[in-house]
Amino acid sequence: MTQIFDNPADFADEALDGFVAANRGYVARVDGGVVRSTEVPAGQVALVVGGGSGHYPAFAGLVGPGLAAASACGNMFASPAAGQVYRVAKAANAGGGVLLSYGNYAGDVLHFGQAQLRLNAEGIPTRTVLVTDDIASAPLDQIGKRRGIAGDLTVFKIAGAAAEAGLDLDDVERLAIRTNYRTRSLGVAFGGCTLPGADAPLFSVPAGQMSLGLGIHGEPGISEHPMPTASELADLLVTKLLADKPHDAGDRVVAIVNGLGTVKYDELFLLFGKIEKLLLAAGLTVVEPECGELVTSLDMSGLSLTLLWLDEELEQYWAAPADTPAFRKGNLAPRARRELAAPDETAAEATEHPTAAAADLGRQAVAVLRQVREVVVEHEEELGRLDAIAGDGDHGIGMRRGVEAAVTAAEQAVAAGASVERVLTAAGEAWSERAGGTSGALWGSAVIAAGLALGNRDSYSAGDAAAAVTAFVDAITELGKAELGDKTMVDALLPFRDAFLTAFDVGTSLPDALAAAAAAAQTAADRTADLRPLKGRARPLAEKSLGNPDPGAVSFALISERIARHLASVRAKPEPTTSDTASGAGNGAQRND
Ligand code: ADP
Ligand code: MG
Repeated sequence: MTQIFDNPADFADEALDGFVAANRGYVARVDGGVVRSTEVPAGQVALVVGGGSGHYPAFAGLVGPGLAAASACGNMFASPAAGQVYRVAKAANAGGGVLLSYGNYAGDVLHFGQAQLRLNAEGIPTRTVLVTDDIASAPLDQIGKRRGIAGDLTVFKIAGAAAEAGLDLDDVERLAIRTNYRTRSLGVAFGGCTLPGADAPLFSVPAGQMSLGLGIHGEPGISEHPMPTASELADLLVTKLLADKPHDAGDRVVAIVNGLGTVKYDELFLLFGKIEKLLLAAGLTVVEPECGELVTSLDMSGLSLTLLWLDEELEQYWAAPADTPAFRKGNLAPRARRELAAPDETAAEATEHPTAAAADLGRQAVAVLRQVREVVVEHEEELGRLDAIAGDGDHGIGMRRGVEAAVTAAEQAVAAGASVERVLTAAGEAWSERAGGTSGALWGSAVIAAGLALGNRDSYSAGDAAAAVTAFVDAITELGKAELGDKTMVDALLPFRDAFLTAFDVGTSLPDALAAAAAAAQTAADRTADLRPLKGRARPLAEKSLGNPDPGAVSFALISERIARHLASVRAKPEPTTSDTASGAGNGAQRND
């Protein structure tokens, strides 16, 4: 149980503030995460790691000389937003370029990927190496689909040491890729973790059972087994990892026994002793092992074993010194503190001067967003429950965080006098920034895309509404690359778009077309229960998800139904003015064909 907090929504931020206060000799707070507070030689490659919070010492605890230059820190178990990653990487860049490295999760890939595009566009050479060590999450021939768990440490450590040694971006990237390719992990869970403010764990394991193949976001394991003895557990983990070893494996390995949160060190050591004997019996030499909490999952009860098959070059960087709040090795000369530049002031908002009609449409767009907030809040728990079946249980809370931030940003925009375009782009940016996660990135970009398609006008035509729907859907498919049948929100989105465009083609009014489209989305969302997820965090637990609809498809269907109902009710009211032009986003676009 996570019990020390004021407001659960502030948990990650306040924990990070306290972490920095306790470690000022190592880290300084920047907008979006932390950077080293000590001098970094000019031209050194900046290894920027990151991910959701709740995994301490990953990720902020691994920032310091010989390891990471900075960490982008998202909300609890939710990826940092693209803007956060971008700002942290800019603060960390010492002129040698940036290597982004993080566990392979859809939300992180979307947000870090967008940040990388932006950094490269600004002339900061930026590369990415994903950590994919979890052998339970995909077979070896699909190693690129595996998720990252405690293997984060080996990849970060070796990349960080290579950067510290002055290697250039090409070499640091090459070593990180090789380390990841030669790292394997497998974990087991005995009980799930509880998010701050939640009254139940994300999953539970029946008494006397053990769940094999855990994720580090509270995703349950792949299969359940009777609780083994320590010797049997050591044997199971070692046997499965050795069976998955890389093709060019030598006989020197790093072994890491990692505690997920509530397994005592004594138990970890007991298990480590048995594992080491098995590795020696298999003819392997164990080099500078680790046993302790390195990548956790709040108060989850579980542990994992990681093996890294070394070669000479990797061994040199694994053994190199490092000095961070949570990971220390060897001796490094003390570093001087550095002065960090004050964070960039956010550019002053460009003031818009929309016409009265355009400003009225901006207000109507805010009213639509408030409806979205209402329906998300009403269904927050249900969406969380659905996502906990095969995902990480954060879809409800993530959507809520996103839409609440979106409404606040939209209200501020409209108070400053904004059109629909400005209202929706501000809302989408805030959504992505605050929600994190996969759905946050997708909804944020989609709302921005719809805003750009609608533009700043005095009235909207049927064609504009169709363009906005198309832009919304395209943003999600272009960014997320999911296809029909992958069991994602796309399975509700495409039927929604098709029904909407068909209704428009035959001359249906906007509220009626939206109602028809929302009904199609609902049917399609229900049908996702029959599918196995092929994208996103739920993919490794495909079988568990069977029989339950996809949370992102369900939330999209609920939201579209609410918007359709809202627009129908607004339209049913008498028109406040006689003007033909003052209607649009809020009460329905005028058909002009
Ligand atoms: P996370 O998966 O990062 O925890 P959420 O739980 O908020 O994020 O959202 C999960 C939902 O995101 C899934 O139910 C699915 O509908 C949607 N999703 C995941 N990956 C994709 C993708 N590549 N394209 C479209 N939607 C996706
Ligand atoms: Mg989730």
